[in-house]
Amino acid sequence: MKSVTLIIPCYNEAEVLSLLLKELSRVTLPLSSQYRFTFLFVDDGSTDATLDIIKSFVERVKGIQYVSFSRNFGKEAAMLAGMKYADSDFVGIIDADLQHSPDLIPEMLEAVDHEGYDVAAACRTDRAGESKLKSMLSSQFYKVINRISEIKINDNAQDFRIMRRKVVEAILSMPETIRFSKGIFSWVGFRVKWFPHENRERAAGETKWSIKKLAKYAIDGILGYTSSPLRIPLYLGIIFCVLSCVLALYGFIRFCMPSADFPMYALLLAAILFMGGLILCCIGLIGEYMARVYTESKHRPPFIVSETNIDNK
Ligand code: UDP
Ligand code: MG
Repeated sequence: MKSVTLIIPCYNEAEVLSLLLKELSRVTLPLSSQYRFTFLFVDDGSTDATLDIIKSFVERVKGIQYVSFSRNFGKEAAMLAGMKYADSDFVGIIDADLQHSPDLIPEMLEAVDHEGYDVAAACRTDRAGESKLKSMLSSQFYKVINRISEIKINDNAQDFRIMRRKVVEAILSMPETIRFSKGIFSWVGFRVKWFPHENRERAAGETKWSIKKLAKYAIDGILGYTSSPLRIPLYLGIIFCVLSCVLALYGFIRFCMPSADFPMYALLLAAILFMGGLILCCIGLIGEYMARVYTESKHRPPFIVSETNIDNK
């Protein structure tokens, strides 16, 4: 019998956990002849009764595991811990607040188990139940990141997904500490089947993502997946140098004209611009080297094998 672990990151979700467990049990019960399900609750340093409720589940229900953090580390860390602790054939991630419909789980499992996909992931079809400002900011964020970074992130992709073991291993092989799952999920590749999914209102409680947390998430995403910002001084430096040459040329032409009046200001400006440009170029050059050190220091695996018929790796 194949095993499935569903990871549930929880941060102050006491109000919704019982309902969630009921829903998950309802959906997974009909599949229990084919799969052995484990619900792995990751308590991300909740300050309410979340942990007590999870412990009460452990006593009452079979197949419940939990990991509890010493403090709030964020959803990224919770998902990572879940993946490290799960040792099943299939690993899924689902939010605690029932915004991710558990009814998709059977179809997702079908896709990864029988249809040859490695990942079954939900993508939202709308952004209902989200503030206008949040959807505007987040769509701008994905536009920017997709333009300047090498990987393409589906901006409707959700963390709600079921993955084969090998995908989880690939994700775990990325040792970086500042993690941006949306980037990591698309960076590792594999065959993904997308499941359109309507955004639903939270069953209870309120969102745990403050604007500050979201801003940090966005910066982690951009800096983690592209080093283009390090190139800004280089480009600015080149522009300034070119400008200074144009100005110097202008001064020279004026000087050569019959009514020769040498525009001192042009020369002065040209000199200042040139020096500024030179300095920026130097900083940019250092940035280029730093970008390489930065990329290397992440120790990402250079490639990930999906399948092979060679035994000795
Ligand atoms: N979450 C977490 N740690 C955090 C913030 C959120 O584990 O620091 C969990 C939260 O309990 C929920 C999921 O991540 O299960 C999604 O969070 P939320 O619903 O608040 O985000 P939203 O749906 O508003 O984007
Ligand atoms: Mg939510």
